[in-house]
Amino acid sequence: MGRHVGPVCRLCRREGTKLFLKGTRCDTPKCAVDRREGVPGMHQFRRGKASEYAIRLREKQKVKRYYGIFERQFRKYYDEASRRTGNTGDALMSLLERRLDNVVTRLGFAMSRPQARQLITHGHITVNGRKLDIPSYLVRPGDQIAVKDREHSRRMPTENLATGGGPPVPEWLDRLSTEPPEGRVSRLPTAGDVGLPVRPQLIIELLSR
Ligand code: SF4
Repeated sequence: MGRHVGPVCRLCRREGTKLFLKGTRCDTPKCAVDRREGVPGMHQFRRGKASEYAIRLREKQKVKRYYGIFERQFRKYYDEASRRTGNTGDALMSLLERRLDNVVTRLGFAMSRPQARQLITHGHITVNGRKLDIPSYLVRPGDQIAVKDREHSRRMPTENLATGGGPPVPEWLDRLSTEPPEGRVSRLPTAGDVGLPVRPQLIIELLSR
């Protein structure tokens, strides 16, 4: 499992939008997207209009960076989505949204996806009562997500929930309780449930070339 280890605010500035990779800092005036104009690097003010390819590439990179995944894994999600019936773009976004690290973040147990990934890989999260340390696990309707019943496991999620737990919990999830932190998947997410403004169709046009 790979993860980005460089400065993450550069990723947001490159995409020109907040990707919420730093938790609480993202909603403060310290956010780099609000403080600094343009893309990172010395050649930031490029002339001319973005090509059709560039527009599609940026949409794909934005989604990959938001969910914290790399190209090879992203292609696997695309392959899986293209095997499904219905709109491939919607299926792709639904698959990504069902990742356990995303669910832990959206339930407010973690302030960012990187933090959620750490909680999961360190064994603090259970699904249906059993420890699950795979951030890419895809949740299903009815799954119960909880934090392990240990003082040191609950410390960070409880603190996060005490400070508001981030943005509101989306409709497809239920936060059952904050102490102990527990939630449930009530239905499968749709493309409309994604918390990032994105046009999945452009990503599909790029990947299906
Ligand atoms: Fe992105 Fe958060 Fe950094 Fe703002 S503070 S640039 S949203 S990671």
